[in-house]
Amino acid sequence: MTAPSAPWPVDWSAAGPAQPAAAVVYDIPLRLPFRGQVRRRGMVWPSPAGWVEWSPFPDYGPSEAAAWLRATAELAQRGWPAPRRSHVPVNTTVPATDPETAHDLVAASGCATAKVKVAQAGQSLAQDLARVEAVRHALGPSGRLRLDANGAWSLDQADRALAQLARFDLEYVEQPCASVADLAQLRRRLRGRVLIAADESIRRADDPLRVVAERACDIAVLKVQPLGGVWRCLELAERLGLPVVVSSAVETSIGLAAGLALAAALPELPYACGLGTASLLRGDLTADPLLPRDGQLEVRPVALDPALAASWRAQPALSASWWDRLSQARRAASTAAAVSVGPAGSGVRGGRPGGHV
Ligand SMILES: [Mg+2]
Repeated sequence: MTAPSAPWPVDWSAAGPAQPAAAVVYDIPLRLPFRGQVRRRGMVWPSPAGWVEWSPFPDYGPSEAAAWLRATAELAQRGWPAPRRSHVPVNTTVPATDPETAHDLVAASGCATAKVKVAQAGQSLAQDLARVEAVRHALGPSGRLRLDANGAWSLDQADRALAQLARFDLEYVEQPCASVADLAQLRRRLRGRVLIAADESIRRADDPLRVVAERACDIAVLKVQPLGGVWRCLELAERLGLPVVVSSAVETSIGLAAGLALAAALPELPYACGLGTASLLRGDLTADPLLPRDGQLEVRPVALDPALAASWRAQPALSASWWDRLSQARRAASTAAAVSVGPAGSGVRGGRPGGHV
């Protein structure tokens, strides 16, 4: 099947900046490497409903970048739904680092929930166990601890690893295996001892509802840009019928505001969200970044600061390459093949998922 049909027809002419001169290509260093990159780059521009960010990952081709572009058309056309809450709890994210660093990151975060990266290539289960133990110690017994394997374990590896990691009282494990079939099999084996969240199996799948049909997960991770917009994610959440965790694609605060709008509009929000990622960037495009206080983000608009935007503006050659990328994404979006872009139609079928958020 294809993506859930949009509740209204997307006007692709609204995707992209109406006033090209007002658009900014940004280039901001990251504090830690992310997806093999040391800088985060993307575009922002004003729309009738506020500033919007388009920042598909650098290795994504025009079809997948077009899915991200759909979110900008949606904002320009519809704005965002009304918020149901004023604050959104967020997790802190612990990279595949040593136990001492992991402990200190969590202790300094102010968050009651931590997401720990595991199953990193080149690392052992013993290293994962040591890191998770350190995080549990930092959180205390009442803190919530979730894992993200980014699909790196085989079915049997996941089974063996979780048998040991479960003693640290896990809230859930995100994308333990790459395929929906393996997730489903693992979930049957676990029998609720550890809940499973699906991320890449929804966001980069031809059929984002397959995880439900195969009873492959307990929780859905949704990201606004890759899935084509806030309203589209709301509709997808309803069709999935699962608890939702809203996560970022490590955007600037302009992009994070879209994730926050989704988290604020969901009827239920039983878990902390993965939106506390602004601090992963060494700079931002607003003077008041969306940084968590006491583990919560305030639901509020984000205004672009022209001086900061100017200071992070990309060099001309990089800027030109992003304008070229935008043209290609718009062309892809306008073809019949790209009409189904969004949760489905990304052109990614199976294999190791690539978005390590
Ligand atoms: Mg993930």
